[in-house]
Amino acid sequence: MKVTEYIQAAKKTLFSFEILPPLKGQSLSNLLEGIAPLMEFKPPFIDVTYHREEYVYRKHANGLLEKVSTRKRPGTVGICAAIMNRFHVDAVPHLLCGGFSREETENALIDLYFIGVENVLALRGDAPKSEANFLPNKDGHRYASELVGQIIGMNHGRYLNDETEVGFRTDFCVGVAGYPEKHFEAPSLNFDLKKLKAKVDAGASYIVTQMFFDNKKYFDFVDKVREMGINLPIIPGLKPITTLSQIVNLPKTFYLDLPDDLLSGLEKCKSNADVKEVGIEWAIQQSKELVAYGVPSLHYYTMSRADATYRVAREVF
Ligand code: FAD
Repeated sequence: MKVTEYIQAAKKTLFSFEILPPLKGQSLSNLLEGIAPLMEFKPPFIDVTYHREEYVYRKHANGLLEKVSTRKRPGTVGICAAIMNRFHVDAVPHLLCGGFSREETENALIDLYFIGVENVLALRGDAPKSEANFLPNKDGHRYASELVGQIIGMNHGRYLNDETEVGFRTDFCVGVAGYPEKHFEAPSLNFDLKKLKAKVDAGASYIVTQMFFDNKKYFDFVDKVREMGINLPIIPGLKPITTLSQIVNLPKTFYLDLPDDLLSGLEKCKSNADVKEVGIEWAIQQSKELVAYGVPSLHYYTMSRADATYRVAREVF
């Protein structure tokens, strides 16, 4: 079923979450066992992230450096199939502009549709760590709005190099990303909102937000999105903080602020175990307030560690 159909049919806030494919060489069974307890909260869909190639330098015996492309977390499509088989839950693969030509995207979408995937989250992706700025692939998309356009085109039977003929129609429901605290490259929130509108105009059906720790940021964002005339569901993304290093790394990686009240609790923590308690309690309070506000779903970034999300969900759902 489509994410939007689940939301329309729901009588209360839904529970959903996101997982990462395991690092190359690690097994899938640990991941699936790890998320199995979360099925208690009946997620209608589970997102599976996509990870583009990185570049590493390999030194040869003659001293020359060779730039090698590698993907550390392959397997998004296979994990989607495994989730659907094992849990009978819809899987939502993330799809990136970066690292794909338009034709590779077209072929990936055909694969996904044939295995029964009905929803995709269309994203631009970031530049590989070794590169300063995002550059599209040769024949690839520069912005997520263009990727949305290609997916919707296939829903209308339009394929590359075959513009005049109507082909087999896919029927994807397309989600896109939204940033309550602004995407880091955007010169202003207003600019970013206009680009969000372009994704909606291209045919997106729902929005999932970047994680945030201050619900006011989400409420203000929803108000501004509505002022732009966008009436799609806006699913808030949440993450319980669980380690000391995340206090520094989450703001740095995701360009977000931690509220003072949360920080004053975290600053007293001496160990990861202490941090986890504060982080879980904060996420519970955030979740409860968002449910009371009437959000369509609470979407947890588990980073493939489900225990903290389990403890939050147990108090909220
Ligand atoms: P876009 O919507 O294309 O926007 C990117 C930037 O370009 C923004 O600053 C925007 O304002 C600007 N922009 C857009 N259109 C235009 C235009 N026409 N002209 C000028 N500027 C423009 N990354 C992964 O690698 N894998 C994942 O699985 C993944 N999952 C994610 C899930 C969620 C819910 C979120 C919020 C993010 C996720 N990301 C993931 C990160 C995401 O790929 C990055 O944040 C990326 O930098 C932006 O992606 P986007 O789709 O929002 O890009």
